[in-house]
Amino acid sequence: MSELPKTTLTDGTPVTPDHREIDPATGMQKGYVVLSEYERAKGFVRPVRRSYIHDKCGGLTTMGIALAETYAADPYFYSGTFCCHCRNHFPVGDEGEFVWDGTDEKVGT
Ligand SMILES: [Zn+2]
Repeated sequence: MSELPKTTLTDGTPVTPDHREIDPATGMQKGYVVLSEYERAKGFVRPVRRSYIHDKCGGLTTMGIALAETYAADPYFYSGTFCCHCRNHFPVGDEGEFVWDGTDEKVGT
């Protein structure tokens, strides 16, 4: 039996070498890595939250469930995230630029 992958892209397909390429039309990456469905099924250490605020612009971004569950399963998985208003990626974590919508809790902590 083959080993289950720890990570996939958001649609469950294998991680590709070019997934970080930026689409100039949206500023988003071609694909985003998430913890695999199997890894996420092991449980969450934070609530599953879909939306965050970028403190530099005040803009709200809502993510898909696979990304939201990856943050909930491993809050330190990502070093940065996308702001759909700035159309760019910025850091998360203690020194990061994002808080979960409706809280003062930093994304990535
Ligand atoms: Zn922004």
